[in-house]
Amino acid sequence: MDKLNLANVRVRIAPSPTGFVHVGNLRTILYNYLFAKHYNGKFIIRIEDTDQSRLVPGAIDDLLKVLKWAGIESDEGPYLTVDNKIKERGEFSPYTQSKRSAIYNEQMRHLIDKGKAYYCFCSKERLEKLREAQTKNKLPPKYDTFCRNLTKDEVQAMLNNGAPYVIRFKMPENKRVVFNDLIRGEISVNTKNLDDYVLIKSDGFPTYHFANIIDDHLMKITHVMRGDEWIASTPKHILLYEAFGWQAPAFAHLPILLNKQKKKLSKRDGDTAVRDFIEKGYLSEAFINFIALLGWNAGTEQEVYTLNELIKQFSVDNIHKASAVFDLDKLDWINGLYIRKLSLNDFYSNCLPFLESNGLLNAKGEAVVIVETNEKVKPAYVKNILKLEQTRISKFSDIAEAIKYFFTEKIEYSADKLLWKKTSRQSTLASMKALELTLKKIKTIDFTKEKLRASIMELIEKNNLETGGALWPMRFALSGREKSPDPFEIAEALGKKKTLDRINKAILKLL
Ligand code: GLU
Repeated sequence: MDKLNLANVRVRIAPSPTGFVHVGNLRTILYNYLFAKHYNGKFIIRIEDTDQSRLVPGAIDDLLKVLKWAGIESDEGPYLTVDNKIKERGEFSPYTQSKRSAIYNEQMRHLIDKGKAYYCFCSKERLEKLREAQTKNKLPPKYDTFCRNLTKDEVQAMLNNGAPYVIRFKMPENKRVVFNDLIRGEISVNTKNLDDYVLIKSDGFPTYHFANIIDDHLMKITHVMRGDEWIASTPKHILLYEAFGWQAPAFAHLPILLNKQKKKLSKRDGDTAVRDFIEKGYLSEAFINFIALLGWNAGTEQEVYTLNELIKQFSVDNIHKASAVFDLDKLDWINGLYIRKLSLNDFYSNCLPFLESNGLLNAKGEAVVIVETNEKVKPAYVKNILKLEQTRISKFSDIAEAIKYFFTEKIEYSADKLLWKKTSRQSTLASMKALELTLKKIKTIDFTKEKLRASIMELIEKNNLETGGALWPMRFALSGREKSPDPFEIAEALGKKKTLDRINKAILKLL
């Protein structure tokens, strides 16, 4: 990329608050942020809310919360204060388009004076008829420039009469627009395929196309990085820059995201809103790492990056041209890696809300209560249990299901579940009884997995028991599950009393 343009990088994200931030938005946000920070530039947020009919309440709040969660801080524009209020900062305030009408009106006057834009008084009915006729004749829908050549006096008379109007761009005729997209390369379009598109709507608000370029220019944006869906609009924008006599920023259009079936990722693929992932307990560092890799890598084998490493290594040159596949398995894999790296204390505090919301525990500081039995336990007790799953789960929303058997006395199963392969009920009963005796002899403070393993293996050897025949029923009695950590680990985490209770229950079932 041209080094000269990189001394004073200013990029923006320009979301329309028409929904909650989805994974594709977050990727655009992240790439802009990484690009800005890589070049010590500025990352700006601008709210494009000129389409008043499509506004969704709470959308801006959602955006700012997602950014805060992700650790992405803007330099200018709206931000969340520590007590979660929305404020704005930056020298080009306001950063919300609905508050910038005076600016757009002033710029529009210049454009009309230059003869580059014009009033259009065509009625809805006329435009509809025109479209119908064009569809019938298999022509692309296009405004027929009917109002282009109204005289000043004609326009004034219509305005005086209070006639509703829009303002349209006077599209240059038969001109080639060429630009060099930083990802896609050279793109060229002939204006004969472009419309005299609307700049100011009948409600007085500017269209996206108009407000977007006015603001990018006034806010000194140097690079526009956005989703591929805007690439068709870019020639219109470039012509508008030319009409004003302004230099256009550089453009980079990011390839779309696909689902695993290689179709455009959509809501139908399940959760695509970032807040759903936050709720499921994905770690923000892992999520950002995953999002960064959706269409970019440093050209090395590295797959795990901190945000700072991403900033250091990010380059537009390494953004892929091909669409990226949004692969939840990969997200889970990366999230699992980050979960393993947490200290046990951090793992515990991340798990706790999920254990509470699933009705297993209630915790107030050091006081933890098992909901079902109302028993008070120490955080250390819960941590010992959690430790067993830190190497296994891939997201926090899985934790309650994974360990709930520790916090319930209602483990239901039938006696035959305790029988390993072809082992008989009689011999299973005998080995469980022997096991019970052995466990009873181990002191409470010695109830560690090492000691348990040593004692039980000794028992197995001495009595010539089958290992599976002895350990399977023990594990099943303790967990009620076909799959779980090994019985020594579960017994240690449960403690002597609960372990013996569960073994005893199993013996009663086998009798
Ligand atoms: N308001 C547009 C959007 O919602 C911004 C597109 C752009 O970045 O120019 O995505």
